[in-house]
Amino acid sequence: MKTAIIGGGAAGFFLAINLKEMNPSCEVTIFEKSKKVLAKVEVSGGGRCNCTNSFAAVRDLSQVYPRGHRLMKRLFKQFDYRDAYEWFERHGVRLVTQDDQCVFPASQDSHTIINLFLFEAKRHGIEVRTAHKISSLDELSDYDHIVLTTGGGTAALAGVATTEPVPSLFTFCIADEALKALMGTVVENATAFIPGTTFRATGPLLITHWGMSGPAILKLSSYAARDLHDHHYQMPLAVNWLSRNEAEVQSELLQIIIRHPQKQLTTIRPFDLSTRLWTYLLEKTLGERAQNRWQNLNKKELNRLVNCLCNDGYQIAGRAAFKDEFVTCGGVDLSTVNPHTLESKTHPHLYFAGEVLDIDGITGGFNFQAAWTTAYTVAKAISQSE
Ligand SMILES: Cc1cc2nc3c(=O)[nH]c(=O)nc-3n(C[C@H](O)[C@H](O)[C@H](O)COP(=O)(O)OP(=O)(O)OC[C@H]3O[C@@H](n4cnc5c(N)ncnc54)[C@H](O)[C@@H]3O)c2cc1C
Repeated sequence: MKTAIIGGGAAGFFLAINLKEMNPSCEVTIFEKSKKVLAKVEVSGGGRCNCTNSFAAVRDLSQVYPRGHRLMKRLFKQFDYRDAYEWFERHGVRLVTQDDQCVFPASQDSHTIINLFLFEAKRHGIEVRTAHKISSLDELSDYDHIVLTTGGGTAALAGVATTEPVPSLFTFCIADEALKALMGTVVENATAFIPGTTFRATGPLLITHWGMSGPAILKLSSYAARDLHDHHYQMPLAVNWLSRNEAEVQSELLQIIIRHPQKQLTTIRPFDLSTRLWTYLLEKTLGERAQNRWQNLNKKELNRLVNCLCNDGYQIAGRAAFKDEFVTCGGVDLSTVNPHTLESKTHPHLYFAGEVLDIDGITGGFNFQAAWTTAYTVAKAISQSE
């Protein structure tokens, strides 16, 4: 039985190795268009490869897989994050789970994963043909099974139904000079949302010299990837700097007025906001009156301040890349593949794994986990197909 795997990335190698482990008599060839295999694994996670996640903080897979969570839930019954963790450790890669639940090789070096894959590929006699681009599946007519592991935005080759590929996991450009002056400010628990939609994400938010970044923004870019694309990355954005509701915030500010009426607004920082951010928000809301004392804050001003803390409006004016990770939202339409085997319903013996499928995750190791899970599923299906 001969299997051709198109794409020498994470999914392609994981699939090839698992297929050989399950069925050593399989002939497996990986075709990779560039000279180098596993290029994304090398640069992933800032060179450390965030290879999976403990999922300890994940209540619902839709939180971490904005597209494909139902299929991932089903596929996890075959191979989930615990299986992936165990797989790497069994193959000699010691892993560590960080406090934020991201899992990395203990070596903190993506080459540990690359070396393992290359070693196992060699040991199993997997043929790896680099600088070999497959332009048509007709080139592979003497193979029994073909698997597309070509990554994001590359499904056209198979002539199957796809959803349009658009970027995910990016940061927002915001044309606001006063905000940009806060560059480097991190707010540990902010909520960013797109007014008038259900898209919202909570987590650390970083103010940069081009706008906003950090986990909250990256998550929001993933949840709203398609809408943002359709609106040419020009949409309103709002930030709740405290992730608290207006009533709570108002009550806390009223307490300050009672306790510190004589103090200047700028000198008492509620909610542990940084001095720079608090002063910026005060000036944005009150202008020159930001220099007043707490007792001079009138009702209207108090309401405006509460609104600014909980619902601070901006305009997204473009997207900027996030250097550590970005993925493609879109790919092979999941309704066109068998959910147990990931075989095409329209093209028998053609399978898909990895980012080429319309599955994508937020940052935190979820995208590699999707690659491991889908690749394992296909390996099992092919190994049992004889
Ligand atoms: C900078 C960066 C950092 C990242 N960090 C992380 C991280 O830490 N954790 C995480 O979970 N995810 C991370 N990701 C996402 C993760 O890298 C991808 O989700 C994952 O690599 C997808 O694997 P894949 O095998 O499906 O696709 P790819 O890794 O993209 O591999 C596809 C391969 O197919 C080849 N190919 C394409 N077309 C053809 C063709 N016609 N013929 C032959 N070969 C072809 C390509 O050259 C490529 O080598 C990161 C992404 C980037 C860009």
